[in-house]
Amino acid sequence: MMKKIGIVYGGKSAEHEVSLMTAKAVIAALDFSTYQVTPIYITLDGEWVCGEKLTAPVEEAEALRFTGTDQPNSIAQFVELASNPETRFDLVFPVLHGPNGEDGTIQGLFEMMNLPYVGNGVLASSAGMDKVVMKQLFTQAGLKQVPYEYCLHSYYNAHKEEFLDACEQNLTYPLFVKPANLGSSVGISKAKTREELEAAIQFAFEYDRKIVVEQGITAREVELSVLGNDEPKVSIAGGVLPTKDFYDYSAKYVDGTTNYAIPAEITEQELSDLQQASIDAFKILDCSGLVRADFFLTTDGDVYINEVNTLPGFTPISMYPKLWIASGKTYAELVEELIQLGLERFEEKK
Ligand code: ADP
Ligand code: MG
Ligand code: MG
Repeated sequence: MMKKIGIVYGGKSAEHEVSLMTAKAVIAALDFSTYQVTPIYITLDGEWVCGEKLTAPVEEAEALRFTGTDQPNSIAQFVELASNPETRFDLVFPVLHGPNGEDGTIQGLFEMMNLPYVGNGVLASSAGMDKVVMKQLFTQAGLKQVPYEYCLHSYYNAHKEEFLDACEQNLTYPLFVKPANLGSSVGISKAKTREELEAAIQFAFEYDRKIVVEQGITAREVELSVLGNDEPKVSIAGGVLPTKDFYDYSAKYVDGTTNYAIPAEITEQELSDLQQASIDAFKILDCSGLVRADFFLTTDGDVYINEVNTLPGFTPISMYPKLWIASGKTYAELVEELIQLGLERFEEKK
């Protein structure tokens, strides 16, 4: 029998456009003789497109917004569709990045609805989205990281000078200031003086009530892909070679100035250290399905973990698939493997 798959894409996130590209690529890679595919679009405003429009092709996503005359969009209609035995999905694939998709919220909805889904569960997704919680868990796993400070907005308002002093005492400029819960480098800036630090903190607080201030490091950036459930496999490493100050939002998506090296030019020892650290990171966050683990590699061969991304960029030209493609898998095989892992995970939990 045909399996029903829902591809949830778009979303209220800075990575909305990336998600649209991914959804097209994932749908094109699915075998239509095995799967009956339903695209489910979440607009940039967070509306779940429904009714007739629910099954519109991804190419028409832009035209799917509520115009005021048609049936209003609502998450309730997705719930109805997925609860009805006639239309229920065998699996959903959230192709969403950033908050409201990569952070455990939508995974919680799927759990409550008893729907099998691709990728990480609630805990791994939310712990992976919060850079402070992620760092605390990495420390627990014995993974090396750059020194950092963090604080909440309410604390900062009351103890601003104290926090700035702590940053300057415990860390050395340049510093990187980040909102705790975000991705795609949104809200991140680099500070070289106390004035810049203050401005960077103010900027990061526009995106979150919690921020992280990190020691800046001079190092190469390398990324690895992890795939599996309880016994994950890890790929070769890929190098990110930004041609500007750092790998910011426009370097990632807009100006195409970033170069990638696959495989990264590293020693056998460095590769094996990076692979071990990737598996350790996957396990400490209790990940499932997939994770891209991102590292800083110094000229001395020291490996610092920067972060993991629980729903990494997934277009055919994104690092996550490219690292597997370089090892001989096709993009379609990778999509199929993720579907099977999602189904297996659901079976094991029963
Ligand atoms: P995001 O989750 O938004 O991708 P990251 O923590 O990966 O956030 O930071 C984005 C980019 O900023 C990194 O890819 C890197 O280029 C730069 N960066 C972040 N932290 C540091 C640091 N401590 N030292 C040097 N560069 C950094
Ligand atoms: Mg990230
Ligand atoms: Mg990153």
